[in-house]
Amino acid sequence: MSQQAATTQSKTNAALMEKIVSLCKRRGFVFQSSEIYGGLNGCWDYGPLGVELKRNLKDYWWRRMTRERDDVVGLDGSILMNRRVWQASGHETTFSDPMVDCRQCKSRLRADQIPVGKEGKIQCPVCGSYDLTEPRAFNLMFKTYVGATEDESSVAYLRPETAQAIFVQFKNVLDTTNKKLPFGIAQIGKAFRNEINPRNFTFRSREFEQMELEYFCRPEQGMDLLKYWLDERLAFYEEIGLSREKLRVLDVPAEERAHYSKGTYDIEYEFPFGVQELEGVAYRTDYDLQQHQEHSGKSLEYFDDETKEHFLPHVVEPSAGVDRTVLALLCAAYDEETIMDDKGKSETRIVLRFHPRMAPVKVGVFPLLKNKPELVEKARSVATLLKPHMNVVYSETGAIGKRYRKQDEVGTPFCLTIDFETLGERGDELKDTVTLRHRDSMQQERMKISDLPAYLLSKIG
Ligand code: ATP
Repeated sequence: MSQQAATTQSKTNAALMEKIVSLCKRRGFVFQSSEIYGGLNGCWDYGPLGVELKRNLKDYWWRRMTRERDDVVGLDGSILMNRRVWQASGHETTFSDPMVDCRQCKSRLRADQIPVGKEGKIQCPVCGSYDLTEPRAFNLMFKTYVGATEDESSVAYLRPETAQAIFVQFKNVLDTTNKKLPFGIAQIGKAFRNEINPRNFTFRSREFEQMELEYFCRPEQGMDLLKYWLDERLAFYEEIGLSREKLRVLDVPAEERAHYSKGTYDIEYEFPFGVQELEGVAYRTDYDLQQHQEHSGKSLEYFDDETKEHFLPHVVEPSAGVDRTVLALLCAAYDEETIMDDKGKSETRIVLRFHPRMAPVKVGVFPLLKNKPELVEKARSVATLLKPHMNVVYSETGAIGKRYRKQDEVGTPFCLTIDFETLGERGDELKDTVTLRHRDSMQQERMKISDLPAYLLSKIG
């Protein structure tokens, strides 16, 4: 691509990202945390639609990774843990990013993300100065105190990842479930990192959620399982509507991997702001169990009934970010198209093309007119019929076309209109049928009310 084409592309991508951020605020997907007080950098709140989208993602991950498998069980660990966990895992001494300060404009920057300017020297991206401090390590864990005294003995950290609870509970889970290798423990929960530079909307936050699986195995199975989990995870992303063309796999070179990892793949997504990591799939050997066994003095070994061996299992870890995946879903779904309205005038239709499985609202239910009690009553009864099965929005205000368009903008895959045919006023054949309107094609068809639950469930399954 030429320099000029690249600049134009980057401007288009920035404009696209702006539109997505603005839609998120306008329609209630994502708000800035503590907004009325000026916000808190790196923290976000999910509004009524965002929380549904996020929940659909987490529920589907849980279903695919835990419930549909015989070899994975779940865990919900606490956020605060004994400080020794983080000493054993190495986080207290090494979980840091290199930080530099700009002496001119006082910006605080991540040294490994600063562009190199003239003469190969790093240059402040904010003011252009070369007057930067030497990089120094900045630990990303949030520190707090447990109990009434604030001293060294009461220090605790907000967990920077969910994985460690799984390792320290490995033995309890093993003893209570009697699982045989290979088996996994899955967890979804909050993690906290005092990122030097939170940015790209929710992509790099200070408070976020992770979906992690630790899959324990015999040492000789590790490399094969690494590949197996990479493929499983890629399939998952396609099942939620991220196309394979926009997903990348980075085989992390040995010198960039953690020293204990025998192989790591990063699954990346082509966001408008660049290709960035969604998930890491890492073969972590027996490093974590070994560290906790050593520091706690408690055996974390597995006993194999058949071979009569005692050994520390190895582990493959697919570790994904909830918020990053939600952002990828929003970016993938956003679309604008030019269509003709009823009067032949062209207009822009904004539509979020979510996979029905992920869509925050599955179906909109509308009476054709709000001042006809029979239509309203019938529409409400259709909504009541569907509500135990899916998220339904009932709406009666505005022209039908406007109501459709509003649902298009939040990605609702189906809308139902209850009209006079439904009431049987145009003959018995159409009685108890509704207009079913499809978001993507805008096509409409008639369907019997009694067929709706099964039909819609088959689409959002
Ligand atoms: P990065 O290099 O982008 O900082 P990482 O390699 O440190 O990420 P991991 O420690 O592997 O990330 O964490 C696993 C997953 O948790 C990431 O793939 C990402 O989806 C999510 N995650 C990590 N840090 C953040 C963050 N600051 N904000 C949102 N999600 C995050």
